[in-house]
Amino acid sequence: MTNLKKHENHTLSSEIDTGIKKIIEKELERQKSQIILIASENFTSQEVIRTMGSVLTNKYAEGYPGCRYYAGCENVDEAERLAIERANKLFGSDYCNVQPHSGVSANLAIFLGILNCGDKILSMNLRDGGHLSHGHKQNLSGRYYEIHKYCVNPETEMIDYEDVRNIAKKVMPKLIICGASSYSRIIDFKKFREIADEVGSYLMADTAHIAGLMVSGFHPDSVSVADFTTATTHKTLRGPRGGLIIADKKYAALIDRSVFPGVQGGPMMHIIAAKAVAFREALKDSFKDYSKRIIENSKALCEYMKNEGFRIVSGGTDNHLFVVDLTSKGLTGHEALGVLTSVGIIINKNVIPFDKLAPTITSGIRIGTPAVTTQGMGIGEMYKIGELISSALKNRENNTKLKEIAREVKSLAEDFPVYTKG
Ligand SMILES: *Cc1c(COP(=O)(O)O)cnc(C)c1O
Repeated sequence: MTNLKKHENHTLSSEIDTGIKKIIEKELERQKSQIILIASENFTSQEVIRTMGSVLTNKYAEGYPGCRYYAGCENVDEAERLAIERANKLFGSDYCNVQPHSGVSANLAIFLGILNCGDKILSMNLRDGGHLSHGHKQNLSGRYYEIHKYCVNPETEMIDYEDVRNIAKKVMPKLIICGASSYSRIIDFKKFREIADEVGSYLMADTAHIAGLMVSGFHPDSVSVADFTTATTHKTLRGPRGGLIIADKKYAALIDRSVFPGVQGGPMMHIIAAKAVAFREALKDSFKDYSKRIIENSKALCEYMKNEGFRIVSGGTDNHLFVVDLTSKGLTGHEALGVLTSVGIIINKNVIPFDKLAPTITSGIRIGTPAVTTQGMGIGEMYKIGELISSALKNRENNTKLKEIAREVKSLAEDFPVYTKG
């Protein structure tokens, strides 16, 4: 009885093991006091966090709503149905699977569903913006399938659709993947569809990064064009860490089978419920406005950096991120990451097209605005951040100056708290 009481009343502040409690507090402090420009990160709402931390995590629910292998699923069935209904409304689809634990799990389920070992995949080169799960040799995709790559055009650093078509005709892949991790331009899903139709291949759009922009109408839609759309729920969609698959209803049985028991066991019902919460938030008009501001901020920060003399890969951005080429500044991505981290500006190092440096060093950094936009920052703050980045990199040998910049970063971040709402 006392044990049960304890559980009912558990809170982070009183009962949690002190080692982890301290770590969570330190991490909260870090998130509040730094400027987070990692393009794949965001701040979820308190509702999403509370749902993830709920008793729904205790439930095993292998199977699908109404068809589970475990008893006692009536409540989690409702949660999953609600998540599916809201996702379909959000993406304008008639089928989706909300169980993938992550973006990579969602992709693997598609591969398992439609490919045999050794089948050919045509996907974007990693260095040019593609993702590990699209055929990196250490990833399952690269181990079990024959991977062919398309690159960006060396001049424009944008996808060259004629080149993709030529490679596709030569390779005759069973699957073409479009969608990227560090590509700052619009992806023309319709052109990819034409190419896939010409060579008789499946088309998968991996919208992990851009899903939030897409459902808000600020990126062309993949759902009506691709055979399969995969997404993450934690990047621009601003939900819990997880994945999602959307497709035509005719693929429902195939995909459901491929997710469970194909690549996963029991679904995480607390995460699925939190996805439902996030989808409801994303259906609101305020989310459209949020997506619009992400892009405005990204363009503003990008322009500022350009004016400071930084070379931007492809010359600019249409979305939530851009990649800065530091070559002419005599800096590597790895060095820039060190300097920026020391002042509290958090980015990731990133390879650039035709990069001569190793992925651990890199010639570039990737900058994204979803998180700072959630905090309510606008164009004025973007100019300020651009100034701070530029000044930190310029004064990288000057410790007094770096300390001063660090103070300014902290004060700007703390003017836009994230956890006081909701
Ligand atoms: C982030 C990303 C993923 C992977 O998502 P995880 O949830 O980390 O597995 C998949 N594809 C692309 C294009 C991504 O950018």
